[in-house]
Amino acid sequence: MTERTFSIIKPDATRRNLTGKVNAVIEDAGLRIVAQRRIKMTEAQAKKFYEVHAERPFYGELVEFMTSAPVVVQVLEGENAVARYREVMGATNPAQAADGTIRKLYAESVGENSVHGSDSIENAKIEIAQFFTDADIVG
Ligand code: ATP
Ligand code: MG
Repeated sequence: MTERTFSIIKPDATRRNLTGKVNAVIEDAGLRIVAQRRIKMTEAQAKKFYEVHAERPFYGELVEFMTSAPVVVQVLEGENAVARYREVMGATNPAQAADGTIRKLYAESVGENSVHGSDSIENAKIEIAQFFTDADIVG
């Protein structure tokens, strides 16, 4: 089934000028980038986005990291896009990520792990709506 998922190219990757390399892995995996914008996340946006982790010990660090440099927010479209992109990203901890995944190739640590991808269709809808309107998405 054709689906959409939400992706973020995180500050560690934009800082190292890896936007194009990350996008190449996404496109080589058969996912289409149907919306994309480079932004500097505000503290309020980052806090809201990672609200589910508010009680975790790394929450403050995570919000600080996500606002430390520009990010690229994206909508990806394709067959089973949510699960497919999770495969393409690799495990949260790059030390455990499979060969050829974005995190294996580029992530620096469990915190600075280059990309975000939605973990369910429901969350994808919520996350896309936080950063894009329907008119921004051209499939
Ligand atoms: P994301 O939600 O960013 O796609 P994920 O779903 O693989 O990643 P989550 O468990 O949702 O992982 O954690 C969200 C983010 O919080 C991680 O991507 C990472 O940046 C950060 N994070 C997770 N665990 C840790 C940790 N132990 N120490 C520092 N940061 C962490
Ligand atoms: Mg997650």
